Amino acid sequence: MQTKENIDKIFDYLNELYPNPKCELQYKTPFQLLIAVILSAQCTDKRVNEITPLLFEKYPTAIKLANASIEDVENIIRPLGFFRNKAKSIVSCSKQLIEKFDGEVPNDVDKLQELSGVGRKTANVVTAEVYGANNIGVDTHIFRVSHRLDLSDGATPLQVEMDLKEQFIGRKMNVDHYLLVLFGRYHCKAIKPNCENCKLQSICKYYKEKLVEKGK
Ligand code: SF4
Repeated sequence: MQTKENIDKIFDYLNELYPNPKCELQYKTPFQLLIAVILSAQCTDKRVNEITPLLFEKYPTAIKLANASIEDVENIIRPLGFFRNKAKSIVSCSKQLIEKFDGEVPNDVDKLQELSGVGRKTANVVTAEVYGANNIGVDTHIFRVSHRLDLSDGATPLQVEMDLKEQFIGRKMNVDHYLLVLFGRYHCKAIKPNCENCKLQSICKYYKEKLVEKGK
C-alpha cells in the first residue's frame, strides 16, 4: 500500500500525462456504452469502435437489439473475436434490460450484474462513466499498474478494487479509473513499460525490484 503523499504524487503525474482523461469507447447513450463495454472484453477499444457505428446504426436502442437476429449481430461483430458468445450476451442483455429495468441502464452495480455479459468491472465502468458514480472498474491495466505501484497485492480484481477504494477515499475514482487505464495502456505497458521516462521510479515497487535483479 502507498502513503497518501505518494498517491497524490502518482495522480499529479498521471494528470500531467493525461490532462483530459476520458472513456475511449464511442457511444451516444448509456445503453450503447453498456453494449460497447460488454463487447470490449478480450478486445481493444479501438476495434470495438470500428464495429459499433454499424451495430448502433442498425440497433440503436435496447428494444431494437432485443429483437435482432443473433446471426445478423454475429455477422456485424465477427471481427471482435468471441463473437458468438458476445452476440448472445448483448441480445440477451437487451431483453433483460427491457424486462427488468424498462430499458433503462440502472445506476446500481448489483442490478447491472443481473444482466447477461455484465460482470463487476463492466458494472463499475458503466456507473462511473454514465452516472459519475465513485466506482473503479479493475481491468487488466489497472490490475497490473496497481501491483507495480504497490497500490495493491490483491490476487483478484475484487481485492484490488477494495484496496484502491480504501486508499482513494476522498478522490474522484471515476476519473482516477481512466488515468490508471491510460497509464497502463500507453506508458506502463505489460511488455516493455516506459520506465526510463517515468517520474514514478522512486516509488515504484516493480522498478525497484528490477534494479535489485540487475544488481544496481
Ligand atoms: S517505473 Fe516503470 S513499472 Fe513503474 S510505474 Fe513507471 S513505467 Fe510503470
